[in-house]
Amino acid sequence: MKKSLFASFMMLVSLAAYAQPQVVAHRGYWKTEGSAQNSVTSMELAAKHKLYGCEFDVWQTSDGVLVCNHDGVIDGIRIEDVPYAKVQYCKMSNGELMPTVAQYLREGAKYPHLKMVFEIKTHKNDERNASVVDNVIRLVRELGVQNQVEYIAFSKFICERLHKLDPQAKVAYLNGNLSPKEVKALGLSGIDYNHSVFKKNPSWLKEAKECGLEVNVWTVNGEQALKEHAANPYIDLITTDDPIVLKKILKGGKKNKDGKKGKDGKKNKKNKKARK
Ligand code: MG
Repeated sequence: MKKSLFASFMMLVSLAAYAQPQVVAHRGYWKTEGSAQNSVTSMELAAKHKLYGCEFDVWQTSDGVLVCNHDGVIDGIRIEDVPYAKVQYCKMSNGELMPTVAQYLREGAKYPHLKMVFEIKTHKNDERNASVVDNVIRLVRELGVQNQVEYIAFSKFICERLHKLDPQAKVAYLNGNLSPKEVKALGLSGIDYNHSVFKKNPSWLKEAKECGLEVNVWTVNGEQALKEHAANPYIDLITTDDPIVLKKILKGGKKNKDGKKGKDGKKNKKNKKARK
């Protein structure tokens, strides 16, 4: 009896928590002075602005060191083809050294409320992809940040291996070419698709919810597009380069404690109903 009451309570808590989409800063919060995409600063700023999550991109050097950078090439050097010593002094656009993933996660662990949305880039072959996943899982466990990390990848191979090695981890597929049912069949926890994918396949949002998959949409920028996506009851997370704009939109749409409308006059009744 106690157990079922507790389960009902937890369900209510989780519904309340998901009444609005969560904000994920795409490559961190970088659109501000002194920051840069994938820098430790961009992650710290996302944490300080109390965002739900901070997305970042990961490559592995030829000697197995994981680093944060969006492109596979930095200063003309292809990261996966060289040992770490060749790229360790490469800088981000804010002057920070390109962080290793270990540094990034250690700093992120200082902000336990922040989810680190960990994108593993597709490397040159699946032998390399397997080695990257194995090293990622090992490092995340060593640092004890499993609860703060949520994985995303374009490679189906990478997603499946992540799920196999850590069945408890959240893993979302990015590539947009599989239906929610197909992603569910792989055992993954979510889809993280470009907004154009949902335009082409509008039924996938509902299908994803019916399958119990979490839905993340990227990269939604600009006030109008953010407002439209924020009002969509099927979307759980929005990945954006404008996280503070989205945060303000969500704050405006939230009901006050007394149930009155927020600043923009919208209640979220529709959202809550559809999510149940
Ligand atoms: Mg990315």
